[in-house]
Amino acid sequence: MKKITILIPCYNEEQNLPLIYPELVKLMDSNQAYEWELLFVNDGSHDGTLELLHQLREKDGRVNFVSLSRNFGKEVAMLAGFDYAKGDCLVIIDADLQDPPSLIPEMIHWWEQGYDDVYARRKSRGKESWLRKQLSMMFYRLLQQSSRFDVLQNVGDFRLLDRRCVNALKRMRESERYTKGMYSWIGFKKKEIEFDRGDRQAGKSSWNYRQLFSLAIDGITSFSSLPLRISTIAGFFISMMAFIYMMVVFVKKLIWGNPVQGYPSLLVIILFLGGIQLLSLGIIGEYIGRIYSESKNRPDYFVDEYNEEKVI
Ligand code: UDP
Ligand code: MG
Repeated sequence: MKKITILIPCYNEEQNLPLIYPELVKLMDSNQAYEWELLFVNDGSHDGTLELLHQLREKDGRVNFVSLSRNFGKEVAMLAGFDYAKGDCLVIIDADLQDPPSLIPEMIHWWEQGYDDVYARRKSRGKESWLRKQLSMMFYRLLQQSSRFDVLQNVGDFRLLDRRCVNALKRMRESERYTKGMYSWIGFKKKEIEFDRGDRQAGKSSWNYRQLFSLAIDGITSFSSLPLRISTIAGFFISMMAFIYMMVVFVKKLIWGNPVQGYPSLLVIILFLGGIQLLSLGIIGEYIGRIYSESKNRPDYFVDEYNEEKVI
């Protein structure tokens, strides 16, 4: 019998767990042809999530859970899930029921047809603020154009991955992860299906704009070096123009002498160049920061307990 793991990253989801669990049980009971594993990753929740997971495991042998030692963020929580999953394939789903479990049989259908990565594209984004939708659209456009890989818009982590994809993702151990880019990077045979993304059932989204911004920076810097190139090119052109202007000033001086003039233009040029320099330094800094954090080679996460067992 083939085994299917459902991976559910949970951060403060005590209100959603009692809602999603019955849904998943319904799904498992109506697909008895497979062996099922529900793998919850408790990403350092501060509420009753862990106790709930203990209870679930007590009454249902299909439930496994990994509890991380603190909050590492969804990207790392998913990596922990990849490491502990036992299935022949793995379905990633949010705990807040924004991704409908009813789509999973369709994913499995395509998996059985030989697809390795069946991902769900949302037709609507649910009730998100206008600003968030716009920012997300801008980000994807930028990423699309700056990297060689198709990072798909309106596609999240809700997908089915074959064991081969899971193994591939497990080998990508960078600590500042942008998993959405990795799915494309690893390749394998992909299949798209569509769904309507609903609203969060309970609790509130744990992302804020600061986190989304840092995920965006991770996304861009981990999949392209275009920002570095832009700063090089911009720096080159601006220096060229400055050089030409210098010649002009020089010639002018030789011909007409030097009345005190051009103070505003001087200031403008200095400020402009200063801005460009700061920008370029910032971009380089982003990359160096990543090199630094990768070179420390720290483990990506620590597990506090797996099922009932304490892990170092
Ligand atoms: N999540 C997590 N760690 C975090 C933040 C979120 O494991 O630090 C989980 C969360 O429990 C949920 C999923 O990631 O299952 C998506 O989170 P959320 O609903 O907050 O994101 P959104 O739907 O707004 O993108
Ligand atoms: Mg959500």
